[in-house]
Amino acid sequence: MKSYPQALTNPIFKLIGQIADEKQLSCYVIGGFVRDFFLKRPTPNDIDIVCIGSGIDLAKAVAEKLPGSPKVSIFKNFGTAMIKNASFELEFVGARKESYQRNSRKPAVEDGTLDDDQKRRDFTINALALSLNFKNFGCLLDPFDGLIDLDKQIIRTPLNPEETYSDDPLRMIRAIRFATQLNFKISDLSLAAIKQQSDRLKIISKERITEELNKIMMSERPSIGLALLHKTDLLRFILPELIALEGVEEVEGQLHKDNFWHTLEVVDNISAHTDNLWLKWVALLHDIGKAPTKRFDKKIGWTFHGHEYVGSKMVYKLFKRLRLPLNDKMKYVQKLVAMSSRPIVISEEFVTDAAVRRLVFDAGDDIDDLMILCEADITTKNTYKQKKYRGNFVKVRAKIQEVEERDRIRNFQPPISGELIMNTFSIGPSKKIGLIKEFIKDAILEGKIPNQYEAAFELMLEKGNELGLNVTQ
Ligand code: ATP
Ligand code: MG
Repeated sequence: MKSYPQALTNPIFKLIGQIADEKQLSCYVIGGFVRDFFLKRPTPNDIDIVCIGSGIDLAKAVAEKLPGSPKVSIFKNFGTAMIKNASFELEFVGARKESYQRNSRKPAVEDGTLDDDQKRRDFTINALALSLNFKNFGCLLDPFDGLIDLDKQIIRTPLNPEETYSDDPLRMIRAIRFATQLNFKISDLSLAAIKQQSDRLKIISKERITEELNKIMMSERPSIGLALLHKTDLLRFILPELIALEGVEEVEGQLHKDNFWHTLEVVDNISAHTDNLWLKWVALLHDIGKAPTKRFDKKIGWTFHGHEYVGSKMVYKLFKRLRLPLNDKMKYVQKLVAMSSRPIVISEEFVTDAAVRRLVFDAGDDIDDLMILCEADITTKNTYKQKKYRGNFVKVRAKIQEVEERDRIRNFQPPISGELIMNTFSIGPSKKIGLIKEFIKDAILEGKIPNQYEAAFELMLEKGNELGLNVTQ
């Protein structure tokens, strides 16, 4: 049996092994930690420990020996216990054997051997275990050839795939998540089994699905996972709005691009520039309004008029359905989807200061993210067009910087307050105050006056006069 004590240099493993020896329990580290060690990836801080016996008792004994005797969180229903400190998160579980009912992913559980426990794991590469007991410290237990699969870069289930996925359909999306994160292939048998029972995803809670989906989104190339979700039909139950973008139609010899595959490219492009999950969501949803707005116009060809607005209106329902947060993150996504064509429109024309000031005013602090989105949105394979679009954005960016330095529009604070207007004209709160403020703001954005107090004060007097207000000292 091959031994890998070099995986277990963290002293916590010796300690757990010693305590298990005292209790005469066999005990192993299993799952992601072992997998990532063999992949030479940074090993994760969440570490899964399995023992033949009570995982809860072992966790309690380990916690007593740790400095400061950290708290043990016990999840009785699952038979698991967790110890968390600043540097790791240890999860203990007793080895178990599971049997599943058809309509639930909550199995009936009984105690089992290590082999039973490895069988119930999702993938061979996640079933690798290293022994922690003194007599065989670091020995690898790999009954399903997970090491070979790591080498072949393949996602495969320990048991027959139909059963594994049917027992817990969350594994279908986990397979795709791991394939995306690791850039592995899913075995043909697995892929066929997933496709065949894709509709069983329905019994999985939206929260769990979204958690996996977000891990796909956070990968370097989310398109791997998104394409697999589509290929296996799982996407129908997650994001049908995206599927509606697939396909190319031709009328009178005019084609539009396939907005599904375009979107996947945009998500990959943006992933090269950001780790912001919500900006990635913007990229994923930036064109969803194109399916409901698609029209063919005899004069101008295909149009998607107002798709940014329609798309941004679709975000709330979609976020709610997927149990994504309905807070400022959602508002950010809505805003950027709604604004997703603005820099493009500007760049197509002569880039005026006024247009850029309006853009910066509306985008505020999100202007940089919006520009990243627009650059990621360039997926044309026509090198001439590509060069042209990129060149246009270079101009827009330069103009943004110029306008910013001069006019400080990004976090625009009106130079004239409502209070000052009320005092100057001795009036109470009224509609006219809003009108005057709006008038001043527009004048600044249009470049008619500078973003300064004196000029704005003058304009306030002028506009007040026009509205029939008198200055009273
Ligand atoms: P990461 O933490 O990087 O997402 P991981 O492999 O540690 O990867 P976890 O979700 O933390 O994944 O799960 C820990 C281990 O528990 C897995 O390696 C796997 O052995 C097992 N596991 C998790 N979820 C399932 C499941 N739905 N079915 C079977 N085994 C599972
Ligand atoms: Mg983990």
